[in-house]
Amino acid sequence: MSALKKVMMVFPHPDDESFACGGTIALCGERGQKTCLVCITSGCKGRSGAYDITCRQKLARHREQELAAAAKVLGITRLEMLRYPDGTLAEVDEEELTQKILEVILDWKPGVVITFPPDGVTGHPDHIATCHAVTLAVERAEQALGADELPDLYYVSIPHYYDHCPDKGPKPAVPITGKVDITRFRQQKGEALRAHLSQEYSVNRAYPGVIEGDYSVIGSYEYYTLVRTAGQPVVPKRPASIPVIDF
Ligand SMILES: [Zn+2]
Repeated sequence: MSALKKVMMVFPHPDDESFACGGTIALCGERGQKTCLVCITSGCKGRSGAYDITCRQKLARHREQELAAAAKVLGITRLEMLRYPDGTLAEVDEEELTQKILEVILDWKPGVVITFPPDGVTGHPDHIATCHAVTLAVERAEQALGADELPDLYYVSIPHYYDHCPDKGPKPAVPITGKVDITRFRQQKGEALRAHLSQEYSVNRAYPGVIEGDYSVIGSYEYYTLVRTAGQPVVPKRPASIPVIDF
């Protein structure tokens, strides 16, 4: 049996990981598969709850603590905070950001890298900038890594988000090519979302009931698009029916 692939996720905000792929991470955790989350900002602008935290530094620290709690629920084995200011990623030096992500890839050598698609799911400029930097970092890593070390790059889609927030965000930019069955991990996904209590309004909007501990709204699948494998781009095609995949 070949070794389980290490799965690395790169997202801009604390909570993106739980919204996008909390169930997948919990599945990896259960079978002892190593996971690394690179969180680019500490979410200091994301005030979306009744909390009265007006100081950005305080909010950033608070959200880092929430993220650490969610990471524990999901069994994330390595957590990297890059601590860029929230909401600025479209303006930061893309070369510098790419380099920081590249360093983690070369150091940790994941078998799978997951990030947002070019539309950012929600259209958030930080999400879009993250997709660009991660894609570039993976392409650069391919030049430096051996043939047996090349990671697969997946974009994550959240069709659930469009169902619950139809007025938000663009239409998906890439077709979904695979789904991970998270039926047994809906509770962990719910608990991880709940750990981001400062974001209760946005959690409630996309996942009504979850903050109160009712996880029935959480679906059985998380959705992905394979866009690079073996050092080459993949042109994603919409399959007749979305196959269940495994990392
Ligand atoms: Zn986000």
